[in-house]
Amino acid sequence: MGIAARALEQRLNADNSDHVGAELPCPCGGAARYHGRHHKTFESVLGPLHLQRAYYHCEQCQGGFCPRDRALGLETFSLTPGVLRMTASAAALVSFEESSGLLHELAGVEVSTKQVERAGEALGAEIAVDEHQQAETMGEVAPTMYLGMDGTGVPMRAQEVAGRAGKQADGSAKTREAKIVTIWTAEARDAEGKAVRDPGSITYSAAIESAATLDTSPELSPFATRVLREANRRGFSEAARCVVLGDGSPWIWNTATELFPQATQILDRFHAKEHLSKAGKAIYGDSTEGKQWIQSRYDELDDGHLKSLAQALHDHARLYPEARECIHYIWNNRRRMQYPKFHQQSLCTSTGVVEAGCKVVIGTRLKRAGMHWTVKGANAIIALRCSKLSGRFEDFWERRSEHKHAAA
Ligand SMILES: [Zn+2]
Repeated sequence: MGIAARALEQRLNADNSDHVGAELPCPCGGAARYHGRHHKTFESVLGPLHLQRAYYHCEQCQGGFCPRDRALGLETFSLTPGVLRMTASAAALVSFEESSGLLHELAGVEVSTKQVERAGEALGAEIAVDEHQQAETMGEVAPTMYLGMDGTGVPMRAQEVAGRAGKQADGSAKTREAKIVTIWTAEARDAEGKAVRDPGSITYSAAIESAATLDTSPELSPFATRVLREANRRGFSEAARCVVLGDGSPWIWNTATELFPQATQILDRFHAKEHLSKAGKAIYGDSTEGKQWIQSRYDELDDGHLKSLAQALHDHARLYPEARECIHYIWNNRRRMQYPKFHQQSLCTSTGVVEAGCKVVIGTRLKRAGMHWTVKGANAIIALRCSKLSGRFEDFWERRSEHKHAAA
């Protein structure tokens, strides 16, 4: 690779065709004058490339540029497009530090931790902008389409949460909530005829952004707009049956009702059971009796016996706020908990997809020990990760390359 790098270098450095006259227009409106050939080292997949390029300097703005850098797509942090792409792929999956180590070990490419961070976040920010503009549909519209929403806290740097209310003992916040929308299909059936998620059908879109708008505002919230974009790309509303799954958070059902009034709303059974288990542990502690009690409640939930479920909680409501909270939860969501009816219609009621989405997209990358994010940095890496995990990165990269090529 070293020999290939020297050959490429010699060939590029022998070619002076990037010297295109004494003056070139500068983006500032002034005129940039030819200022000789300038040297710079770029990191390529072949290792370092030492390139001499024609440099144009502008008196008016004191800026300068090399036409060749633009032509070859070398404008991002001294990295060639090949290395930039490798860097982004690594940064989507593991920490910036681990990315730097992996690039060195697997590809013999030297990209510092700081460079990985800057390049990963810059490309992630590009992807986030691209996602807003990308209306093209992808994948087949299945007879039944599922859409899940969820939220999870991302650990923030102190200045990003200053003055915000949160869950800490003193009322302060350490995290901001990333909200995620997941769309998938489940046309496959298992041996018992139950709907099973179709492999490869999941796409994600997520960001730290608000799901709330003023009642008087005709505008959708930023997150509702995100949900709508994703739904349009997947043809969610074109399906004969649309299903929205979520936990009990009001913003999820408000968003669902506002955007998809025709959709069947289902309370994710995974979350419902989490609530019951929390109540059971509060009442009985970690005992055998408690485990049996919780199992009986699970069975009532699965069988749709919400009345006896509520009654069992009611017996403890006077002493345990958790039991009272659970009764409210069941009452508020009762129409979304008709599991036997949903199962008769062959609908998924607890796929773990939504829960797993939060873990896969946000948790495993952004919630690791010692990580503290800015909103801007977190949203860039979330966008990068969603694009990778949803199989959209290739298309993005193609559009980017075409665009850069046309601009050059
Ligand atoms: Zn200028």
